[in-house]
Amino acid sequence: MSEASLFDLLPDGSGLAPGGQATGGAALGGEALTGGSPMAAAGVLDPAARDRALAELAASCDACRGCGLAAGRQQVVVSRGNPGARLMVIGEGPGAQEDASGSPFVGKAGQLLDRMLESVGLDSNRDAYIANVVKCRPPENRKPTAIEMAACLPFLRRQIALVQPQVVLLAGATAVEGVLGIKGGITKLRGQWRQWEGRWLMPVFHPSYLLRNASRERGSPKWLTWQDLQDVRRRLAQLEAGDSSAP
Ligand code: SF4
Repeated sequence: MSEASLFDLLPDGSGLAPGGQATGGAALGGEALTGGSPMAAAGVLDPAARDRALAELAASCDACRGCGLAAGRQQVVVSRGNPGARLMVIGEGPGAQEDASGSPFVGKAGQLLDRMLESVGLDSNRDAYIANVVKCRPPENRKPTAIEMAACLPFLRRQIALVQPQVVLLAGATAVEGVLGIKGGITKLRGQWRQWEGRWLMPVFHPSYLLRNASRERGSPKWLTWQDLQDVRRRLAQLEAGDSSAP
């Protein structure tokens, strides 16, 4: 069994079927988890207009030289996934494979993210829209500086405004800092719902951190992330059922 296989395992009684739908409670169904609640409806563009606006945004990112990261990039990395999804995943920034491919979360950490989402019945390309705080690769995968994050934040805010996710997974402390301006260890921040501009945000460990922490024991980062992801899945089901009350 591989070290990352916790997210291939579904503990008994989870109520979740592998790679599919919830087996109990409010099923989300096999269709894309498209947005559209009354909460999110205000200001929502129709899909064609949204996709045009996202294409314009991607072109703006491609042309951007708004911070020093532009100098070292091969490609700007804007997004992957479904812009109609209820769930958005925000990470830190592109790594080497993302820089080479132009897509976020495609390296080992991205593959683990895919399995993490699959473990709660979500497909990363169908049920989520995935982006990063900065769109260009920081040298040697260092954390982006506050100046770089601030320079790139308008692009992320525009993505959020266009996609209108109801639930946002903040992968790692840098994503929490970039979006919420809160600095702190992810160990303390993770697992607590936060409300932000009408959306529900859940900070979780970054998949690359989980790759370095192999334990699947109760209380380990992987085990805690499994709890957080089940919470996110329940939240999505709750919203799908029209219940936008506090988790
Ligand atoms: S990281 Fe963002 S702000 Fe900096 S050059 Fe790239 S797209 Fe522009």
